[in-house]
Amino acid sequence: MSEQPTAPVKPEDIKELPAVASNFFFPCKKCEADRYHRVLTHPTKTSAKLECEVCGAKQTFKLGAKKRKTGTGRKRKKTPTPEEVWIDLKGKVNLENIESYNMRKRFDPETAIEHPKFGVGVITEANGLSIQVTFQDGEKSLVHNRE
Ligand SMILES: [Zn+2]
Repeated sequence: MSEQPTAPVKPEDIKELPAVASNFFFPCKKCEADRYHRVLTHPTKTSAKLECEVCGAKQTFKLGAKKRKTGTGRKRKKTPTPEEVWIDLKGKVNLENIESYNMRKRFDPETAIEHPKFGVGVITEANGLSIQVTFQDGEKSLVHNRE
């Protein structure tokens, strides 16, 4: 081989496709190392099919392939934690009037209740025989209105 080994290139820095039949220094996924790859074909104008000289693994190199963005952009929607939900709900109910939980009682949504085990929670849904209650450490389904 007459070529000088080149410094490993980051895929996102490559602006041009390597020529067919040339050797292209590129990370091999199988070898988990930078290897010379033979350029087999250009399946599209922006991609090249490569074959690792060492293990023979084939892969497609794409021009302008971007790495997955990590943690950038403000769009990502964070799911609120149970505690955040609880804090939000707490602001909407009357905490002066916390009813103690009892499965024989009938409860309405947006009522604060105190459960002997889970503490204070806010009822988000009530139907037939069950209520959904958000406690500080998560949502629970409890029974109510039981004869
Ligand atoms: Zn390889």
